[in-house]
Amino acid sequence: MNINFKDKKALVRVDFNVPLDKSYQITDDTRIKAAIPTLKKILNDGGSIILMSHLGRPLEKLNADGTINKEKFTLHHLVNHISELLGTTVQFAEDCKNAGEQAKNLKNGEVLLLENTRFYPEEEAGDEAFSKQLASYGDIYVNDAFGTAHRAHASTTVVAHYFDKNHKCFGYLMEAEVKNATKVMNHPDRPLTAIIGGAKVSDKILLLEKLLDVADNIIVGGGMAYTFMRAMGGNTGNSLVEEDRIELAKEIMEKAKSKGKNLALPVDSKIADAFSNEANQKFAESNQIESGWMGLDIGPKAIAAFSSIIENSKTILWNGPMGVFEMPNFATGTRSIAESIAKSTANGAFSLIGGGDSVAAINQMGLNDEVSYVSTGGGAMLEFLEGKELPGVKAINE
Ligand code: AMP
Repeated sequence: MNINFKDKKALVRVDFNVPLDKSYQITDDTRIKAAIPTLKKILNDGGSIILMSHLGRPLEKLNADGTINKEKFTLHHLVNHISELLGTTVQFAEDCKNAGEQAKNLKNGEVLLLENTRFYPEEEAGDEAFSKQLASYGDIYVNDAFGTAHRAHASTTVVAHYFDKNHKCFGYLMEAEVKNATKVMNHPDRPLTAIIGGAKVSDKILLLEKLLDVADNIIVGGGMAYTFMRAMGGNTGNSLVEEDRIELAKEIMEKAKSKGKNLALPVDSKIADAFSNEANQKFAESNQIESGWMGLDIGPKAIAAFSSIIENSKTILWNGPMGVFEMPNFATGTRSIAESIAKSTANGAFSLIGGGDSVAAINQMGLNDEVSYVSTGGGAMLEFLEGKELPGVKAINE
């Protein structure tokens, strides 16, 4: 952020899509806190701020009479908390399309929050007129909403077209997300190890394809490992297997071999006779799981092998848990991998935790401060890692 905001009105897209309880109190303000450094920089420079965000999916959850459930989805619920965090009373504009006067009257040091941008169908449609109207409120556009950067919406992407290169930029959060993901995928210190887990191969195909090009080691754990076990002719019992992806798993293994990449699968698993924390459980080789049993976590031999790879890596990318970590009896694999990543980071490796459930896991295990970077952008980060150009990023760079 090397723009000076003195005497400027900054139109800032943030991701304040925070969870609220039944009485509309914020239950987790991580996303708001993440944007505060950017907002403080603008105010400290001597500028003013017009804030834009969405909250939930109001157009998908209309009232019975077809109107918007404003009580539930209004961003007004956030005004007091943002005011506290910024140390200034935040003003509110009830109509995103008619906030011109309020924006014009803003003095340096003042903040105006616009109503939920998703109250307007024009937002998700990326409507030009709506974007132009929003753009008219600010002198400079700042995008700090990495979590929505993969959407070509009015406030995340199209609005940027109304500002020239010198009048738009990333906020600190978005800058950090882009910088860290670019470092891992484009110029990592080697060896680069990617740890990919989670439920399904089908969700991670593009990521796996990309990693075959950029990573040195690809560790596959979680439910998706059993489709690979079947591809090698193993018995996987009742484990999660995507029958229609077995061929693809074979192709991925062949490609890894021909490219000289190390594709590591879990040799053993913790198996259970039901999908339950209380089920009977034991360890087995991952390719010899009896019928009636299913693999719900990686086993001790897999943990040892994966940890050794991780601890010998210079760059680590982690996306997806190693097992059903939500159940304590099947969280050991995920916890052990998180600990190895923390250990490797303490020894100088760069580690990026990117993607919804591994972020939840690292937070649950209290190790978020012991890795290099924990991404805030689930779907957006996955698309970035897959090598896609995110519209919100492109609109700032062009
Ligand atoms: P994803 O969103 O694709 O990263 O998947 C995360 C989910 O995968 C978590 O909710 C885990 O409980 C689930 N998962 C991980 N390992 C397994 C497994 N072995 N069997 C079934 N589900 C799993």
